[in-house]
Amino acid sequence: QWIYLKDEFVRKEDAKISVYDHGFLYGDGVFEGIRVYSGNVFRLEEHIERLYHSAHSILLNIKQTPEEMTQLIVDTVKKNNLESAYIRVVVSRGPGDLGLDPFNCPEPQIVIIAEPLSIFPRELYETGLEIVTVPTRRNRPDVLSPKVKSLNYLNNVLVKIEARLANVSEALMLNDQGYVAEGSADNVFILKKGILYTPPTYVGALEGITRNAIMDVAKELGYEVKEEPFTRHDVYTADEVFLTGTAAEVIAVVKVDGRLIGKGIPGEHTNRLLEAFREKVVADGVK
Ligand code: PLP
Repeated sequence: QWIYLKDEFVRKEDAKISVYDHGFLYGDGVFEGIRVYSGNVFRLEEHIERLYHSAHSILLNIKQTPEEMTQLIVDTVKKNNLESAYIRVVVSRGPGDLGLDPFNCPEPQIVIIAEPLSIFPRELYETGLEIVTVPTRRNRPDVLSPKVKSLNYLNNVLVKIEARLANVSEALMLNDQGYVAEGSADNVFILKKGILYTPPTYVGALEGITRNAIMDVAKELGYEVKEEPFTRHDVYTADEVFLTGTAAEVIAVVKVDGRLIGKGIPGEHTNRLLEAFREKVVADGVK
């Protein structure tokens, strides 16, 4: 396995970064998770745009142009001979001193990893997920915009810990007003009376690229789609609930905080959207 690091491809065993990197010391940086389907990189342009917007927002200057970064990502996939893969692009503030000041970090560090995908076990797509809501709150948009996909994922890690302690594999975070925001690394949708709802980003959700693709697919299929805040009650009483994300794609949720959703099996609309999404992924790719 080859990893892009410091302007070259190095073997996984040799891919090492400085302990003074502010990504390591402070979670100072941004990242992307991207999917490759049948040799096509899914919605690469949108991932690149989100990466550069995230970096710009935290005043992190990526030396490479978006076009150069696009090429580096495609090259990493090719170098590893991968047809289906998960790509992780990390841009950290780079090495500096022990102080917090990012102005003492002269050069960002770019790492690109492409590896075969490990998704949720297949049976979970057939049975659906049981999830819980947890005490950890999504940080407020005025603290750090939820649109920034930063390396500072402690909230999300805590959500994952709380899920695992509750013996489930995923959980939902609320925002500080109690509206449902998102999962630890996925967006949430509910379906009620044939209408699809997902929280607007200002509630505290990342503008997920899978989320956007699902909204496109749903509209093409004739669904009404609304970005509206909703509460746990709305989730409990939804006809269908599902999560979306680069790694998970679309996965049904069948129980939330012990409440059965619908009939307790993946819903027909969720299945239909997943099918249409899978057809779309090949069409929307970059070779
Ligand atoms: N929300 C968070 C916090 C995430 O980290 C991710 C994963 O990237 C998502 C949502 C889903 O976004 P996407 O569909 O772009 O992977």
